Amino acid sequence: MAQIAQVLVDVPTMQTNRPYSYQIPSAWQSQVQPGMRVVVPFGRGKRRVQGFVLACNDVTTFDGDLKAIDSVVDLAPVLNQEALKLTAWLAASTFSFQITCAQTMLPAVMRAKYEKLLRPTDQTSAAIDDQIFHGQTSVDFDAIATTPAAVSQLLRLQAAGEVEVYYQVKNQARHKTVVGVKAALSVADLKQVETTVRSGAAKQLALLNGLQTLNGETLTQREFSQRFDVSEAVIRTGEQKGWLQKTAIEVYRDPYATANIRPTKPLKLNDEQQVAVNQIVAAVDAPATTTFLLEGVTGSGKTEVYLQSIAAALAKGKTALMLVPEISLTPQMVQRVKGRFGKAVAVLHSGLSSGEKYDEWRRIRRHEAQVVVGARSAVFAPLDNLGLIIMDEEHESSYKQDDAPRYHARQVALWRSQYHHCPVVLGSATPSLETRARAEKGVYQRLLLADRVNRRPLPSVSIIDMKQEMQQHAESNFSRALLVALQDRLERHEQSVLMLNRRGYSSFVLCRDCGFVLKCPNCDISLTLHMDTHTMKCHYCGHEEAIPKVCPNCHSRQIRYYGTGTEKVEEELQNLLPDARIIRMDNDTTRKKGAHAKLLTQFGSGEADILIGTQMIAKGLDFPNVTLVGVLNADTALGLPDFRASERTFQLLTQVSGRAGRAEKSGHVYIQTFNPDHYAIRFAKHHDYEGFFKYEMQMRHQGGYPPYYFTVQITASDLDEAVAAKRMYQLLQWLKPRLTPSTIILGPTPKPIARVNRRYYYQIVIKYKQEPNLEHTLTTLLQETQVQQRQGLQIGIDVEPLHFM
Ligand code: ADP
Ligand code: ZN
Ligand code: ZN
Repeated sequence: MAQIAQVLVDVPTMQTNRPYSYQIPSAWQSQVQPGMRVVVPFGRGKRRVQGFVLACNDVTTFDGDLKAIDSVVDLAPVLNQEALKLTAWLAASTFSFQITCAQTMLPAVMRAKYEKLLRPTDQTSAAIDDQIFHGQTSVDFDAIATTPAAVSQLLRLQAAGEVEVYYQVKNQARHKTVVGVKAALSVADLKQVETTVRSGAAKQLALLNGLQTLNGETLTQREFSQRFDVSEAVIRTGEQKGWLQKTAIEVYRDPYATANIRPTKPLKLNDEQQVAVNQIVAAVDAPATTTFLLEGVTGSGKTEVYLQSIAAALAKGKTALMLVPEISLTPQMVQRVKGRFGKAVAVLHSGLSSGEKYDEWRRIRRHEAQVVVGARSAVFAPLDNLGLIIMDEEHESSYKQDDAPRYHARQVALWRSQYHHCPVVLGSATPSLETRARAEKGVYQRLLLADRVNRRPLPSVSIIDMKQEMQQHAESNFSRALLVALQDRLERHEQSVLMLNRRGYSSFVLCRDCGFVLKCPNCDISLTLHMDTHTMKCHYCGHEEAIPKVCPNCHSRQIRYYGTGTEKVEEELQNLLPDARIIRMDNDTTRKKGAHAKLLTQFGSGEADILIGTQMIAKGLDFPNVTLVGVLNADTALGLPDFRASERTFQLLTQVSGRAGRAEKSGHVYIQTFNPDHYAIRFAKHHDYEGFFKYEMQMRHQGGYPPYYFTVQITASDLDEAVAAKRMYQLLQWLKPRLTPSTIILGPTPKPIARVNRRYYYQIVIKYKQEPNLEHTLTTLLQETQVQQRQGLQIGIDVEPLHFM
């Protein structure tokens, strides 16, 4: 019987990044298991901390009296064998603390403030019901688990399925409501009332007008007053006059519970889809750990390939995991998966409350859900017996976590594929260069969907040179060609989508006459504007120069920061096309839970002619009536100081173009740009991913960037800029002799956003092809910076960073 538990304590520091030995009280010796959480005394004095049991055995390296476990937190393991192994691997490969990684596997509610309850199950015997529950549906755990013997009994009952521990978030506001407004009269009656209101009462007329457009819908009072520009006082007047009614709207709703999801049947696949499904299913059946790259143009029916492959895994009695970027977890996508697999589907994403997430997590643990659809962290979903992992839009940078542990969901998916011996499908219309290069080498198996479903043509693309537009017309966000096209769609009752690219907003300087963007003489990367120091800086090598007053290329004075807001653009468009019904989607209009879904539903049901938004509208939308896509500013992302700028621009343009002409009607795309000759834009015009891939690979080769080199980014931050900078220069000296000479070290430089939360950030980038000393060096670095970390300096290591800002 194991007497000693190896416990990972909840103290995230380098010295405590290893298990500590604790005595298991004799009453629980056969019951405490790896993966359970326990409370243990730690350090001197009375300090108690939580920890994970990693192993139970009789070995200890500590030759003194062992302290004993204080109490158990869980009656059954919350981390299974796979999760424990994954924790260890994740910690090592991302240079993070094991405890942080272990916690990453669990839903937030198990870390947050919760009430711990004990609940009966359908197997609870009458005797136990009597002894513990007295007919109640739950009792407080701590009130029962008061003695080692009581805990021992509970552990036994849990193992026999007679009780369960349940975590409930404290103070969960379940039925929060806000004031809603809806019309109390019919449109005809409202029109009638309008004639009785004197023309001077503009606000009341606006109110009546607004009510007429509601169509029986209820808006929140805030939305209503913003949309129609009427104050709460005017709304109150309207209520008193009987024009409108105030109601209570529940704001926290599960966006999926209410959606009536129609069951769907598998579609008849076209030849290319069939080939792809056959290959994937063969790997599921084998089973084989093949990694597939499913490269399919937008609208080629990748989702149907996913769904039919998942069905094959389920038919084998296995489970399936489908990862999608947070942003494309639209109700549309969820409906497609739930429509096919119904109750077998669990959905995990940031829009759920922590209680809802925990419920989904439990359904997965208990094998009640066999298919999980979710964003990045769903890659840890505790599915047993995995038969297939799918990662849609695999090139999306949101799959990489920005904070420790800085993992990429793709790496975790590949690890789990090895563990479960199952295939992985990486899907995209525009695969990341890394993935596409691996397919080229045969590391991944490439599956191609070259055509849209039913051979619908990809939309034709027009590039509009905004330099010429600017010379011929007053400054406007809309070229004449785009305006004419929008007008045309209005007349034909077809819909348009307009994207304003906010990435890199205002951070670089562009000449409006010649399209010139100021670049670093050493790095061929755009310089970033720093208003604090009034300089242009290179974030790769540290080069710095003054902000130009005239364009160094054409000597024009029309050189300025580039960028404008969605709200302004909407305003301008409404002036230009007064009859157009416009929906705006950006961070402001989608902040509230469910708002994103609601706006899309409105647009989908034809309540608006034009959807105008930021990058968030580029992905996953499948609306048959959209025949026009406009990109207002293709350049902003090109200006970013990042070697992936071209790749991101190409991906974004391709994705957003893919929203047009998906059904019978053909689509057209207008891309407005100051750089019509840039290769990312040229290749996007021709939907030429392969051409882009080849060209960009050359650029990366010349610049010595991934996928030809691996990269690691080290950042240091401190409240005192001088401390951060000094430490980084010391670090550079420390690193150099430890790494092989062929490895390149860039920096240190201040990070592009040099100051965040009052801390100053500096970075070093290591580029290498093979670096046998890397792991040891970086681990040593973490150990040696322990003391400084405690003094406030923070060191972060990011393996294969996706952002250099
Ligand atoms: P992608 O994800 O590759 O952009 P989708 O999976 O969204 O493409 O598919 C585009 C459209 O084609 C969807 O409306 C989908 O229902 C439809 N579709 C997919 N496969 C078929 C098929 N085999 N037959 C008919 N329609 C299909
Ligand atoms: Zn110029
Ligand atoms: Zn530089």
